[in-house]
Amino acid sequence: MKITPLAAESLGARSMATLVETPDITILLDPSVRLGPYRYDLPPHPTERSRQKELWQVIRGAAKKADVLTVSHYHFDHHNPAAPSIFRGKLAFLKDGKFHINRSQRERSSAFVRKLKSYPKTIQVADGNQMDFGGTELLFSPAVPHGYDDELGYVVMTRIAQGHEVFVHTSDVIGPPLKEQLSFLIDAQPTVLYVDGPMTHMPEHYPQEHTKRSLAHLVRILRTTDVRTLILDHHILRDREWRSRIAPVFEAGKEHDVAVLTAAEFAGKPVDQLEANRDKLYGIEPTPKGISGAGPSEQ
Ligand SMILES: [Zn+2]
Ligand SMILES: [Zn+2]
Repeated sequence: MKITPLAAESLGARSMATLVETPDITILLDPSVRLGPYRYDLPPHPTERSRQKELWQVIRGAAKKADVLTVSHYHFDHHNPAAPSIFRGKLAFLKDGKFHINRSQRERSSAFVRKLKSYPKTIQVADGNQMDFGGTELLFSPAVPHGYDDELGYVVMTRIAQGHEVFVHTSDVIGPPLKEQLSFLIDAQPTVLYVDGPMTHMPEHYPQEHTKRSLAHLVRILRTTDVRTLILDHHILRDREWRSRIAPVFEAGKEHDVAVLTAAEFAGKPVDQLEANRDKLYGIEPTPKGISGAGPSEQ
């Protein structure tokens, strides 16, 4: 199984787009990439805009190779309503637009399906669904809250298993802070796990108790499963201080022989947190530690 993170905060823009290739099937997860609207009260820097374009071209190219395209939920960093044609001839698995969804995502879901028109070969609801392709099994979790409650709606997690390898992609669980998210991850028995991590740069919107619980859950996964690689990116990489914030996870990784790394590092590329360093891109001295200057986070 070949796992390729295509775009992520560690690669310079908001995304968890990932290409998974097995001898049986090629699956593209959450094909989109966006920029944080405001950070440190600053709009995206031109460097971020050009990076977003580059990463989108990478995703577009990967979509051509893929047989299956999935959408875990309807935030714009996970689906791109401006480019429905990448779904042409594909098998699409989409987060259920009717159940376990909030109002804004319900509206976006129906708008998206209208735009997809007849591009996909078939459209299936992802939530709790499962399909085999030769020796590869694709499975989605039931809908779980987007974070510690359902104010931002729900997401589906994705599990792809082939031979002895199991890749699990959490999408936006923002942690994972909840037992129901943890249970799925432990039951999934991943060998490679890709988690978005807690949102530590906005303590005013994401209370510390949820960070603590999320870190405890991640440590428990490292202790109790056969996971060999933990990819941490997306929400956690919006924090410049992310390494120190998740120190217990790095320690547990060392203890249990699990590689803990960003999507960029997993892909063999340098970490380049453009959003977290937007102040520096504008030539502004970084604000003191603890002041996030964060704008609205979810899109
Ligand atoms: Zn989201
Ligand atoms: Zn997201």
